[in-house]
Amino acid sequence: TAKRSNSGYVVYDPALKAHTQQNLSLLAELRHAIEHDELKLYYQPKVKLKDNTISEVEALIRWIHPKRGVIPPDQFIPFAESTGFIGIITEWVIQQALHQRRAWQEKALPLTISINISARDLLNPKLPSVFSELMNRYQAEPHWLSLEITESAIMTDPKSALEVLNQLRIKGLRMSIDDFGTGYSSLAYLKKLPVNELKIDKSFITDMENNPDDAVIVRSTIDLGHNMGLTVIAEGVENQATWDALAHMGCDAIQGYFVSRPLAAETLENWLQTSHW
Ligand code: C2E
Ligand code: CA
Ligand code: CA
Ligand code: CA
Repeated sequence: TAKRSNSGYVVYDPALKAHTQQNLSLLAELRHAIEHDELKLYYQPKVKLKDNTISEVEALIRWIHPKRGVIPPDQFIPFAESTGFIGIITEWVIQQALHQRRAWQEKALPLTISINISARDLLNPKLPSVFSELMNRYQAEPHWLSLEITESAIMTDPKSALEVLNQLRIKGLRMSIDDFGTGYSSLAYLKKLPVNELKIDKSFITDMENNPDDAVIVRSTIDLGHNMGLTVIAEGVENQATWDALAHMGCDAIQGYFVSRPLAAETLENWLQTSHW
């Protein structure tokens, strides 16, 4: 890539060129990955604390690369978001989750699948119709899916996001605010959002047993959510002590490595049968 210097000469910037070529090839690889079934959803269970049951799982994407092995989402989702390719990925995720849910329906395994929606998706006014079309195709009921949306996603362009969220809500889809506590949404604004649940970010959960500040934040968030009529879930639960503390604080559900890592669908099915859930 060449760029114009102040003097008007075209200067060559090798760093910029490398960067751009790398991006172009990553984009091409991602396209290839979708076309060749290299993307895969893993599912992590959520446990309801009132009766210790699992009725919902979160879908988390992985790229099963033929040469590089399993690539975690942090290594390609932000890139996909910045290039706009995320729209294609999100559509694939919705379709894939519905496909899985249809298969589970046939196996009498009625799990709700929650999927992650990006900031960029919320700015796409066609998102609600993408849902409608795919849900029709799979004859899905609204409770088959729920959506996880980050606070920062909503705050990028609150007016447009609210419009899209309201349309999704009308379709009967449940929604939670992901990574709650890490963004900047005001409480007044939170009140207007058509969401059902707050998901407390794992950065507050990981160390809440040792860090009183974190424990206070967690407790306040649970109370805030309940006072607003929302359920509250905690992510990143890694041990029994954290589970117990959250149960004691009245948290509605938990998710984390202590229960299970995200698993491939087949592995999850076996795990559900062989463990005591
Ligand atoms: P997230 O939505 O906040 O997901 C939680 C992350 O924490 C996941 O990482 C999950 O595997 C991990 N995790 C779960 N339990 C524990 C625990 O007990 N301890 C610790 N340390 N971590 C735990 P993962 O799967 O690598 O996903 C990272 C992020 O990538 C997600 O954060 C989400 O923002 C994004 N992502 C994943 N799948 C998708 C997708 O299908 N679409 C979009 N747009 N984003 C996705
Ligand atoms: Ca999430
Ligand atoms: Ca999260
Ligand atoms: Ca996150």
